[in-house]
Amino acid sequence: MKIIKKINEMKSISRKIKNEGEKIGFVPTMGALHEGHLKLVDTAKKYTDFIIASIFVNPLQFGASEDLRSYPKDIHYDAKLLENRGTNILFTPSDKEMYPEEYDTSIELPKLSSALCGATRPTHFKGVCTVVCKLFNIVAPNIAIFGEKDAQQLIILKKMVADLNFGIKILAVPTARESDGLAISSRNIYLSSQERKDAPVIYQSLMLAKKLIENRERNAKKIKDEIRNAISDKLTAKIDYIDIVNKKDLTQVNILEGEILIAIAVWFGKARLIDNITLRIP
Ligand code: AMP
Repeated sequence: MKIIKKINEMKSISRKIKNEGEKIGFVPTMGALHEGHLKLVDTAKKYTDFIIASIFVNPLQFGASEDLRSYPKDIHYDAKLLENRGTNILFTPSDKEMYPEEYDTSIELPKLSSALCGATRPTHFKGVCTVVCKLFNIVAPNIAIFGEKDAQQLIILKKMVADLNFGIKILAVPTARESDGLAISSRNIYLSSQERKDAPVIYQSLMLAKKLIENRERNAKKIKDEIRNAISDKLTAKIDYIDIVNKKDLTQVNILEGEILIAIAVWFGKARLIDNITLRIP
């Protein structure tokens, strides 16, 4: 696996690969890799001939009080994992390479970005869209692969690609989980042992909501109350939000119908964990 740090080199190699008729699959990440990220690489391999992964801890998507400085980093370990899984190139630019002093452009989807995580992280998705836009221009992939764990991010990026006519196909990969249901996350390492014991309640509460809906409950408030009760049972949990929204435009749903997204964010100590499920209401 080749490691590239410079934008110009990445651009010229990706164009050359495409000119040779190969399809590029792209997996953007912030590193601290785990099985969830590697499942994205596996999916890329299934659909394309040449895999480019990126590791870039994007400062633009962290709020002032967030964990940018302490975000876990081990580039050598990550590179080994990517290589073992068949990645061809790891693109890992510096902050300066991506955002030189005179940098001034940002990409924003204000409607979709104000719901769910955007309510408590108001600049987050602007940072995500800006960096993904840059990475797409640099890597020029045929297909880009993202995780369903970050459901709002996925919906926003699909819209950005459509709005800006990128001509890149976005593939979604189901959330990889620990055996107790906890969504695997780079931030799980922040959890104390008690917090780790309590954290699976997020997934359990989503499964409880699914059961209620299967038993014909359609009132969003009642379902959210049940989720809230289940999570509040755990003393280490501090709920950020519990929402049920229309999957298309992320607007609030009162009576469940169509395709809905149940999304949750909960703080356990200094880890803010998110999870979600999508359901189609018959
Ligand atoms: P991150 O490094 O956290 O920015 O994530 C990079 C990509 O990995 C995003 O597309 C995430 O949605 C995806 N991802 C993170 N955790 C998981 C997981 N547990 N299962 C599947 N995809 C994931």
